[in-house]
Amino acid sequence: MKCEEDVKEDAHRDLQDQLRVLRDGFAEAIPEKMAEIEAVWASVESNGERGIGLGGTEFQVLYRLAHSLVGNSGTFGFNDISECARTLESALAEKAPNSKLQEAIKNLREAAARALRFSPPRPEYLDFPLSPLSNVSSAFSKPPLVLLVDDDEYFSGELLLQLEGYGYQVKQCRSLTEVPAALEVEMPDALVMDIIHPEGELAGPAFLSSLISQGKALPPTLFISVRDDLSARLEAVRAGGLGYFTKPLEMQQLISRLEVLVGYRGPDPYRILMIEDSATESTHYAHVLRRAGMQVTVVSNPLQVMEPLLTERPDLVLMDLYMPGCSGLELATVIRQQDAFMGIPIVFLSSETDIDRQMSGLSMGGDDFLEKPISPEHLVASLAARVTRARLLRANMNRDSLTGLLNHGNFKYHLKLELSRAARRQGSLALAVIDIDEFKRVNDTYGHPVGDRVIRSLTRHLQQQLRETDILGRLGGDEFGAILLDTDEEGALHRLDSIREAFSAHHYRGLEAISETEPFAVTFSCGLSGFPGKTNVGANPDALIELADQALIEAKLHGRNRLVVAGA
Ligand code: GH3
Ligand code: MG
Repeated sequence: MKCEEDVKEDAHRDLQDQLRVLRDGFAEAIPEKMAEIEAVWASVESNGERGIGLGGTEFQVLYRLAHSLVGNSGTFGFNDISECARTLESALAEKAPNSKLQEAIKNLREAAARALRFSPPRPEYLDFPLSPLSNVSSAFSKPPLVLLVDDDEYFSGELLLQLEGYGYQVKQCRSLTEVPAALEVEMPDALVMDIIHPEGELAGPAFLSSLISQGKALPPTLFISVRDDLSARLEAVRAGGLGYFTKPLEMQQLISRLEVLVGYRGPDPYRILMIEDSATESTHYAHVLRRAGMQVTVVSNPLQVMEPLLTERPDLVLMDLYMPGCSGLELATVIRQQDAFMGIPIVFLSSETDIDRQMSGLSMGGDDFLEKPISPEHLVASLAARVTRARLLRANMNRDSLTGLLNHGNFKYHLKLELSRAARRQGSLALAVIDIDEFKRVNDTYGHPVGDRVIRSLTRHLQQQLRETDILGRLGGDEFGAILLDTDEEGALHRLDSIREAFSAHHYRGLEAISETEPFAVTFSCGLSGFPGKTNVGANPDALIELADQALIEAKLHGRNRLVVAGA
């Protein structure tokens, strides 16, 4: 049987083989590409078309051929050809005299001949290390595990919630001494570690360095800290840190980095729509992105982009700047002019180096500009960062900021959706409306921030103890909603009652003068309704919510800290 390392090795070799095949294919096509350039050049020369300037069609064709050769050859490691093609490209753009063009073409011809005689050295990307791209290629059968090492209870609680909300499984160590055992139990996919610990101002990285010197294997590590000085950053690098984030954390940045490190594809792979007329290039780049777990749709004709935009719902559009039929800039403008695609990131991938053109690319609605040739890691990291941010922005519009749960409107939308689904399949679901008991008193006694902690704590209890497929929302203030799929009221009653018990057993402390305030507990009440349910209101979301609300009021009236089923 193959161990995981072997599988990774195989996948790596497989990727390299495939990239090599692509490169060989390109090499074979070099004479053909040169012949095309020579033919167009001969025609430009004999027709004296230069007089028409850059507007001359053959001149344009020549420019396009040179331009695409810059990117193509660079991508596959033929740097010599790429340089010569770039010189020709600029000479054409400058409308240089014929003699200079002739010289540029001669140099290009010679570079091509050299490349065919002596195969150029392997491009660097064929030697890229096993991690992180190879991790990326091995599909995760379960959520990636992050080990969080931070002694600050509030901070790590918050971070844990955010990471879990993002689909990670998180284990916590409150002290450094717990770390070796945690690594023994299960090797995490990533380690997120604070710099400062009770043992010292640089104890985090120092501890990891000592583990490394004992020959212990460690997962990719990110450091977080309130410290932002050079010695802390240096220590982090020495301990093998692959990222350094200062508190307060820019969550998006941390998530993007984690995502690249563990190659997390999540339950919903990133969807990239690539518009590229060169089949060699699109095959190469699509391949790299697919290996990183992304879903890639390739469109070779820019005029046919609208349909895949609608059907594939891409997270990001990646396009060349130069294409036959219309330019990348025009296409970006057209895409942006439609409301539905206003938020979609557009990234140009081109060998364009002219800064003015890059700028106009950005001003016309492009988000980023990546220059060919680009290494697989750089391409994957850039796109992953863009998509992560775009998804976060989109999710934030539908989510409550304190808990990350669906907001009221979106929760109701999901309820409607699940009800019609259940009705169609003759299935069942239960709706729970949960409200914290005497929450005003928590706020009044301990302050709003402590109240917020209680809200997050309830969120976590619900997230941990309900099934992954169940749907959670914050309906407002201290009120939560849960949709339990394929469950009747009895089943829901059973599960929520055990959540009620666990939640009420949890103890909190006030913020100040920790030693003086007594720990306190908080309870909740819950109203339940079901579909098809005891009351038979049908697949009507408003009626179901109304029933659960009524049941909740009854629970409050009967003394709180209890559950009531509508119509029972
Ligand atoms: P009951 O048992 O009847 O539910 O009593 P209660 O005190 O919980 O009453 P109610 O549910 O009406 O009170 C909700 C309180 O929640 C009022 C409001 O100040 C507080 N609240 C609403 N949103 C937030 C929040 O985001 N953070 C904090 N800390 N408090 C909030
Ligand atoms: Mg309340």
